Amino acid sequence: MDRQAKKLFKILGSLLVIVFFLIGFAVNSQIDRQNLEVCFLDVGQGDAILIKTPYEQNILIDGGPDNSILSQLGNNLAFFDKELDLVILTHPHSDHVAGLVEVLRRYSVNKILMTGVSHTSPDYLTFLEEVSLQKIETEITDSQKDIVLGDDLVLRILYPWTDLSGQEVASLNNSSIITKLIYKDTSFLLTGDAEEQVEHDLVNNQIEIKADVLKLGHHGSKYSTTQEFLDQVQPQYGVIQVGQDNKFGHPHLRILKRLEDNNIQFFRNDLDGPIIFISDGQNLSLKKRGE
Ligand SMILES: [Zn+2]
Repeated sequence: MDRQAKKLFKILGSLLVIVFFLIGFAVNSQIDRQNLEVCFLDVGQGDAILIKTPYEQNILIDGGPDNSILSQLGNNLAFFDKELDLVILTHPHSDHVAGLVEVLRRYSVNKILMTGVSHTSPDYLTFLEEVSLQKIETEITDSQKDIVLGDDLVLRILYPWTDLSGQEVASLNNSSIITKLIYKDTSFLLTGDAEEQVEHDLVNNQIEIKADVLKLGHHGSKYSTTQEFLDQVQPQYGVIQVGQDNKFGHPHLRILKRLEDNNIQFFRNDLDGPIIFISDGQNLSLKKRGE
């Protein structure tokens, strides 16, 4: 065989390896679709949660502080999967909204759910501009409601209870959209940056907040995750979306101690990287890195 033919075989061989790799990745990500997957993405200091449902929907709650969301989405969706059925913006602080701008530009987003609360930060305004530029359907949430995603799979909007659109609020954190994702016998409570006051309101109004997994409010700060709240949620697992060496000192040691005292096994993005739960409806398991 002459040198050129050898070279050609080498190139063809490499191409075949790439093709098999891509097919393997695609098949793998479709197999996962028999279960619910909730991915607490590692976006540094901020929140971003990707929900992959067994009914082929992709839902993104918040987009983190920057474009690190793009590689995180790429790692968790098949390379051809560029569609997000729903994007929820819990509240317009930059560590939740800034990464969404580029997501809107690169993914086909079918719908956005948000409170429409007033805020004039450049990141939020750029996000709103992009939404209107692309004419993406937007829903303002103003009350509790169930989004039915399929058989035994519901995304329940628990908070806020009033129309905040166009309003200036005393605390943007406490305007956060709070959701509970329920798949058969398993559930996740996702609280944005909600603090003590909202936690108290939920408990006081006897809202059904019991859940297997709690994403702690406000990155594990001392102003969220009260004992009163934990008594009602009774989570088995806690997730803290937090960046390494963040300037806010999140998470607070008092909160970590409280989780330990309540026998809640917890994970943190700064130490554990992406945290991915898989639910078959009865049992929860954690996806190990590289799986
Ligand atoms: Zn935040």
